[in-house]
Amino acid sequence: MSEFNAQQLANAGIRNLSPYQAGKPIEELERELGIKNIVKLASNENPLGLSAKVKQALIEQISGLARYPDANGFYLKSKIASKFGLQVNQITLGNGSNDILELVARTYVNDQHEVIYSQHAFVVYPLVTQAIGAKGIAVPAKNYGHDLEAMLAAISDRTKMIFIANPNNPTGTFLSTQQLYAFIKQVPQHILVVLDEAYSEYVSAAECAPSMAWVAEFPHLIVSRTFSKAYGLAGLRAGFAVSHASVADYLNRLRQPFNMNSLSLRAAEVALDDDDYLAQSVQINQQGMAQLIAFCDATGLSYIPSWGNFLTIEVGPEAATLYQKLLHAGVIVRPIAGYELPNHLRVSIGLQHENQAFIDAMKTILGASR
Ligand SMILES: *Cc1c(COP(=O)(O)O)cnc(C)c1O
Repeated sequence: MSEFNAQQLANAGIRNLSPYQAGKPIEELERELGIKNIVKLASNENPLGLSAKVKQALIEQISGLARYPDANGFYLKSKIASKFGLQVNQITLGNGSNDILELVARTYVNDQHEVIYSQHAFVVYPLVTQAIGAKGIAVPAKNYGHDLEAMLAAISDRTKMIFIANPNNPTGTFLSTQQLYAFIKQVPQHILVVLDEAYSEYVSAAECAPSMAWVAEFPHLIVSRTFSKAYGLAGLRAGFAVSHASVADYLNRLRQPFNMNSLSLRAAEVALDDDDYLAQSVQINQQGMAQLIAFCDATGLSYIPSWGNFLTIEVGPEAATLYQKLLHAGVIVRPIAGYELPNHLRVSIGLQHENQAFIDAMKTILGASR
């Protein structure tokens, strides 16, 4: 008689996935460590909290929750289209942009294909690649960022998709408009380029590539955006892809019709109009970045220059110990050994007093060990 074996039953690609290491909720940590007022600078969330306009819209939306959401996301897509100068049929909505990243891979990649991404790039790229059973090609980074020439050179007969994060998480590195444009132009059009721009709102208008407009010239380009960072909606799960209409058509065939719920649809729509909140988010981020950089410079710690809402600091081989000590001092940051950066810690930019809590804890810990 055959026996039940969960491992053997699972698809090969899934069997080899490691479980996602989620951070503990603040409340649970506070109870565990017996401390209060823990500062969380670990997940690149927006430290401003929910926008007041979005909150009001959500309250008004709640009474409609007995109905299914609008499967086409009509109002949100119209808003996105008008804000970014697009056609509605170029847009695919996602339950966060992670949903988009998985959707593009499942629509276009199979187990005969190769997928290219950079070393130290966002963890979801190898994850979705492996889940499908495709072969992931991690191209060694250059100065912690994408080495576009090496990525071009890594293209083979089997290459189907290339993921680029700009800015990248967890390194914060950034590719210029010229570099990106030249790269996309050189990628053969039977290979899709997925440009993940989760942090682009933090990049100045002068530096930010007009990537969505490029889709008209490059039908093999898919741009992904999220509401989780500068728009402050991480808990609601909202993101979208911009592509050639024919690409969006296929993405939308596989997309679950209700992947964005009524609350996230409405919140994202209102967030796109909340220019004050966005401007404040960017300003708080600039100030906090300057605050952390000043501390690093004064302390002699090196860091990777960042275009995102976080700073990745080189703290040396004791990074894991330092992370634990910071935790006990009430500050949660992100160890990134899993990204092949065992000597670094990633610190999300918080409010002024939160950044200061990190700085004070670092001073105490480093002072005690010197
Ligand atoms: C945070 C982040 C995202 C956003 O994920 P969501 O699913 O939209 O919350 C996407 N890409 C990168 C590189 C990120 O760091």
